[in-house]
Amino acid sequence: MDKSFPRSSEPSEKTLTGWSSVAVHAGHIKDPMYAHQVPIYASSTYVFDDAEQGMRRFSGLEEGFIYSRWGNPTIAEAENKITALETFGLATEAKGILHASGMAAISTLMLATLKPGDKILTHYSLYGGTNELVNNILPSFKIDAVIADLRDMNVASEILKNDPAIKMLYLETPANPTIQCVDIEELTKLAKQYNCITACDNTFATPYLQQPFQFDVDFIVHSTTKFLNGHGTAIGGILIGKDVEFMNTKATKTHRLLGGNSNPFDTFLLIQGIKTLELRMERHCHNALEVANFLETNDAVANVNYTGLSSHPDHYVAMKQMRHPGAMLSFELKNGLQGGINFMNKLKMCTRTVSLGTCDTLLSHPASMTHFGIPKEEKEKYGITDGLIRMNVGIENLQDIFSDLHQALT
Ligand SMILES: *Cc1c(COP(=O)(O)O)cnc(C)c1O
Repeated sequence: MDKSFPRSSEPSEKTLTGWSSVAVHAGHIKDPMYAHQVPIYASSTYVFDDAEQGMRRFSGLEEGFIYSRWGNPTIAEAENKITALETFGLATEAKGILHASGMAAISTLMLATLKPGDKILTHYSLYGGTNELVNNILPSFKIDAVIADLRDMNVASEILKNDPAIKMLYLETPANPTIQCVDIEELTKLAKQYNCITACDNTFATPYLQQPFQFDVDFIVHSTTKFLNGHGTAIGGILIGKDVEFMNTKATKTHRLLGGNSNPFDTFLLIQGIKTLELRMERHCHNALEVANFLETNDAVANVNYTGLSSHPDHYVAMKQMRHPGAMLSFELKNGLQGGINFMNKLKMCTRTVSLGTCDTLLSHPASMTHFGIPKEEKEKYGITDGLIRMNVGIENLQDIFSDLHQALT
């Protein structure tokens, strides 16, 4: 990048004291054409003034864009913005690399940090794609996963003590579908004793609700497809690391060669979404708590999984590491599979779909949708029962969410 362009590490941005000020301003690169909003730099390559400049750029003597799989001005703005948010208020330097999807960011992380013979320690209830990656793809590269209930520190400690091949602790918190949370701080401390690198998928929480770097995690990944974009308009992901040297070398090389780069149009949509993240998350979380309380008192509902409720087993951990308990919850209908199907069919305003992070309230019924046909015992290992409904509580007015749920539950 041209040295005359302001960067996210510019002192002016470091002095911003409010979260939304950073979300709105950080990473912005002053446009040479004076465009107010970041332009969509739809250009696969960048030109050189002369052969010598080409030589300087390729050799790294001069910063600047060369080829959009390697880097692009629109993409750089999003990378710097999200990194500024993940390090906001912390004395941590970091570097982010935007990817085509959350899965691409996770793939870069795994392949840049692990080698054959290494193992990953992780927990149940990972995002489905991550679960498949560690169980079905990485083993072909002789990278295996140890999966355990990491809410139990004794279990985590025993495994790390007895298996020196474990080189990475991979966390996702909160996680699907029962909104389980693991203790980032305690697990990271433990992993460091065994020289394990640590990574956290912060998609459900977003940097507004939770900053894993505060607890000394080495890498953060996001599916920006969800709350960061916020409007369901583009797939994307980011890998952020505290070891800037590693990010600039091994991680950058892996990202460039695997080819999971993002594109300027999707990144433009992402940048616009991030600016309102605080406003949206405040409303999402406020609504989620009200909806959880509403569901808890409904006769058709057997139980509600929301970490904002003191009845949730991970309530304490969630409150310790998160600003608010988030926008995701799940609940169990008394009438099992058929109850789930009836409920889903009756919804009027709320949207029947998978995914999360959009302004509208989304509901899915794993037993008849994402997990249809999977044997009961297998599903229950992941906390998926026949009457379980997963909900992304949107930012609509509460009265309308209540009305829709009420009529669908009766
Ligand atoms: C969606 C999601 C992913 C995968 O992200 P994509 O952008 O779909 O590739 C990873 N982790 C979590 C927690 C997710 O919700």
